[in-house]
Amino acid sequence: MLRIGCHLSSSKGYLHMGREAVSIGANTFQFFTRNPRGGSAKPVDEKDAAAYRAFAEANGLGTILAHAPYTLNGCSADPAIRDFARRTMLDDLQRLEYVPGSLYNFHPGSHVGQGVQAGVEMIADMLNRILWEDMRTTVLLETMAGKGSEVGGSFEELRAIIDRVEMKHKLGVCLDTCHVSDAGYDIAGNLNGVLEEFDRVIGLDRLKAVHVNDSKNPLGARKDRHEKIGLGHLGTEAIVRVINHPALRNLPFLLETPNELDGYAAEIALLKEAYR
Ligand code: FE
Ligand code: FE
Ligand code: ZN
Repeated sequence: MLRIGCHLSSSKGYLHMGREAVSIGANTFQFFTRNPRGGSAKPVDEKDAAAYRAFAEANGLGTILAHAPYTLNGCSADPAIRDFARRTMLDDLQRLEYVPGSLYNFHPGSHVGQGVQAGVEMIADMLNRILWEDMRTTVLLETMAGKGSEVGGSFEELRAIIDRVEMKHKLGVCLDTCHVSDAGYDIAGNLNGVLEEFDRVIGLDRLKAVHVNDSKNPLGARKDRHEKIGLGHLGTEAIVRVINHPALRNLPFLLETPNELDGYAAEIALLKEAYR
């Protein structure tokens, strides 16, 4: 069965997201843990989390993906900004224990001229300070488009971070189809080749989720502008190959396309229909 969902607003809590997901034919979803610009989060509503867990169980909702605010930067040149990223991620991870077994995805960061090596070391250092043995969440590094000084635009950079983290068993990777294409990996034209390279550099066993997005820009553009499925440079056929690929087909697929709920419902229906 295809595990598919989309990005939803978390402002009304877990149960609301669960109901919304079911209403558009989804069986998983993604949400920001707090305002994407990085503001403070409301206290965890334990009743809402408990009601959601029961609803998810009754309605077949699978593993969900929490997304860190994309403005966090664990490899900033400013120690106060690095510290804020670390404290925010730790707080997010502690709160996610109310929905055990979830995935937590974050953008590795931007080294802002300090160099990839320095960035990799600071990101790994942050992870080494926040992961703990009994946590029930898996933390995912997202494949990035490589715009500006983003770390994570190549599989080698993600591998270098993972290599420096002590609790590697708490780590995975989320592959974003728009980002990897923008980073120069020809996922539309050579899916097998890209996955072979992922396997050789990182290992496909690390791959825990896929962000399914078309791209407004061509291969290697390094822009990171998502497009609706079929309207961008990847195209519907390439996306259909992604969801059906033997190495990917059992992973959760999350749409982050520029859509409202009805648009997401249509893309979910399209991909369910195309799943073999
Ligand atoms: Fe992301
Ligand atoms: Fe993404
Ligand atoms: Zn993106």
